[in-house]
Amino acid sequence: MNYNFLHLFISIVCFVQSISVLASGSPENDSLYYTTPTYAEVIKAYKTLDSTYSKARLIPYGKTDSGLPLQLFIIDKQGLFEPRRLHEIGNTILFINNGIHPGEPDGINASILWARELLENINTNTLLDKVTICIVPVFNIDGAMNRNCCSRVNQDGPPEYGFRGNSQNLDLNRDFIKCDTRNTQSLISILRQWDPDVFLDTHVSDGADYQYTMTLISSQSDKLYPVMGKYMKETFSPLLFKRMKQKGEEMCPYVDTKNYDDIPEKGIRAFLEIPRFASGYCGLFNIFGFIAETHMLKPFSKRVASTQKLLRSMLEVVSSESENIREARSLAKKEDVVRLSFPTNWELDTTYSEKLDFKGYTAVSKTSKVTGLEQYYYDHAQPYEKKIPYFPKYIAADTIHAPMYYLIPQAWLKVSTLIDQNKFRLITIKEDSVTTAEVYYIESFSTTDGPYEGHYLHSNTRVRKQVEQIKVSTGDYLVPVFQENNRYLIETLEPECADSYFNWGFFDGILQQKEWFSGYVFEPLAEQILLSDSLLKKNFESKKASEPEFAKDSFSQLYYIYKHSPYYEKSVNRYPVYRIGKR
Ligand SMILES: [Zn+2]
Repeated sequence: MNYNFLHLFISIVCFVQSISVLASGSPENDSLYYTTPTYAEVIKAYKTLDSTYSKARLIPYGKTDSGLPLQLFIIDKQGLFEPRRLHEIGNTILFINNGIHPGEPDGINASILWARELLENINTNTLLDKVTICIVPVFNIDGAMNRNCCSRVNQDGPPEYGFRGNSQNLDLNRDFIKCDTRNTQSLISILRQWDPDVFLDTHVSDGADYQYTMTLISSQSDKLYPVMGKYMKETFSPLLFKRMKQKGEEMCPYVDTKNYDDIPEKGIRAFLEIPRFASGYCGLFNIFGFIAETHMLKPFSKRVASTQKLLRSMLEVVSSESENIREARSLAKKEDVVRLSFPTNWELDTTYSEKLDFKGYTAVSKTSKVTGLEQYYYDHAQPYEKKIPYFPKYIAADTIHAPMYYLIPQAWLKVSTLIDQNKFRLITIKEDSVTTAEVYYIESFSTTDGPYEGHYLHSNTRVRKQVEQIKVSTGDYLVPVFQENNRYLIETLEPECADSYFNWGFFDGILQQKEWFSGYVFEPLAEQILLSDSLLKKNFESKKASEPEFAKDSFSQLYYIYKHSPYYEKSVNRYPVYRIGKR
């Protein structure tokens, strides 16, 4: 009964929301400004464009968890749909990814409108002379098919949309390293094949209230290769902001408040997209990544129109800057293969801030009728324009010195398969041997209390390194580090990096001790061990003397001796990917 009442109430709210959007006086009257199409309707729209224009093509790629293939829509003025050839002739590839979060469908709609507009005038549009457009109509197809009215509770329309999680209830925008979904596996295959120069992921924001409809995340410049970071910060990103302003659509850097759930006036910071995110993943492959975040409280029609303006601006800038974009990428790729050390684990520099012109709303406080406690809200009767602190800079907390090779024993098939799927060169070992390698031992790490995106994610991992002779078997894999895009190898294979395969739990088997002892049998042996190892005996006695709990615990004492004896297994916490050779 209660549920029915709630459902009726929500339906009325959604209906009123859609009416208010229609009444907002938007000049556009296409239904794409008011409702978002179903997945079947989206594909139908692109199929119509494919059959109408020879310069457009919709190509199905690998499967997604929905069972349907991931589709890629391409617009090329020369009608060339072959990525290698397009790179050879010097075209720049602009890649738009939509519906990673299908509840945020602005880009799904805007891309259809934009594609139509581009194709109608393609023969006279000089912006497309050297730029090829790739559009993923919907990435999370399964989520898009799971439509509902209400899961984006704070968002102003459309009346119905898809759900954030895919059929495995995973957020695809955390899946780019662990690759649990077929959606991500297929998109990675497309990205590695097309190697876009510029990648844009379309979203709708949560969080604070302010006057802008569009906010933009430009890949955090410190973590890009210096040549790309400098170009992004000084040229590419400012040009986009300028083009949007010229279109009467002033935008703001994504409003990520410095402290969680705080107000923007206290300071906002540049967003750090680590490799698990789509744009963070692209950064490892020297792709200029962007995330569009329209503001959830603006009507859907306004958000779609704003996303369309960003797509137009993006094409204008990519077209005029085509040479510079390709040049910066090419230099970064060349640096990959000679770079000896890799900065990683980026942390916000809280000591450095700039002043950012910001158009916000004053936050005021009132007593909540629900909780009886103070609740702040943004008062639209009190808009403001002022400078607020902006924290744009990140510093690498760690530096990894690269080995010549990583050796991946064939038992760790999931790891070697992912490296292969990301198009890295792997050498299969042809004969058994023994070699010298640096071996990591996991010294410490933290783990989430509950599952995070299907894994018990580790963090704050620390390792100890020692040189050992290791056995190399026929069929193991050697991964040369000095190859293009090798930041991916460092960020995934070095356990201390935030999004390493270790932190995603791929190597959890090594964290468990397999064999134990029985105290009554081990006790006489423990006595012998202490007699033959004077240093161990000294350490054991001093531990007993300084730790009363230890002194009273017979199992802990025997375990201490066992752990420091030759009987303790060598494989516990021994990381099984080895570092071989130094440049
Ligand atoms: Zn999103």
